[in-house]
Amino acid sequence: LRRPVVAGNWKMNGNKALASEMSQAFDNQHFNNVEVIVCPPFPLLTQLSKESVKVGAQNISKFDSGAHTGEVSADILKDAGCEYVIVGHSERRVDNFESNGLVADKVDIALKNGLHPILCIGEPEDVRDAGDLFDFLSAQLNAVVSKVGIDAFAQLTIAYEPIWAIGTGKTASPEQAQEVHGFIRDFLATRNKEVAQKIRILYGGSVKADNATELFSQPDVDGGLIGGASLDPQSFISICRSAA
Ligand code: 13P
Repeated sequence: LRRPVVAGNWKMNGNKALASEMSQAFDNQHFNNVEVIVCPPFPLLTQLSKESVKVGAQNISKFDSGAHTGEVSADILKDAGCEYVIVGHSERRVDNFESNGLVADKVDIALKNGLHPILCIGEPEDVRDAGDLFDFLSAQLNAVVSKVGIDAFAQLTIAYEPIWAIGTGKTASPEQAQEVHGFIRDFLATRNKEVAQKIRILYGGSVKADNATELFSQPDVDGGLIGGASLDPQSFISICRSAA
């Protein structure tokens, strides 16, 4: 059985006050089996109490160390208390021109250094409308499979985030989410059945306290990657409860 996971992606939001508020709100909270991860901006990583939540970064350098101004390495992230790192978020793919190849390199370096990548994939609306959804997602997955190999996916979490649902309030229906999550699991199962059964696949895109339960109850939805609603401690706690 897969352990549910709810991760909050703060994106470029928050401050020290929110980090301590969140840590306090999650102190002594019990969510049965749910794994809770908070991914704040880099400077706030060390502010989050690791006793309350697990900590993840929103990006990682493809380099190990050295002369790469503005980059943050796997070692630095681990030193700051990270266990997880979001890789390939659509906002980075767009704003920073991250290609499937670069995303694969970042997954690779995270894994080599013992960080768990949360690999984000997801289609723009025109791709879905054109009927190219599964080809698009396959290309995103294939790039990573060819770089790290299918067995390494045992260390990964996948987040399916349809771009048209991010920050729009227009969430995928539970049926739409399940259809894609089922596709992702089948894609992996044809390559390694055991890994496909084990890997957790999160849904992201306008998840709120009032739609989380229905989304998370789908058989192949193992939790969520939450943007806006993860900035409010009470909403985020309620979403975490929904995954139990
Ligand atoms: P929203 O929950 O704000 O739609 O963001 C989703 C997301 O991109 C999480 O990574």
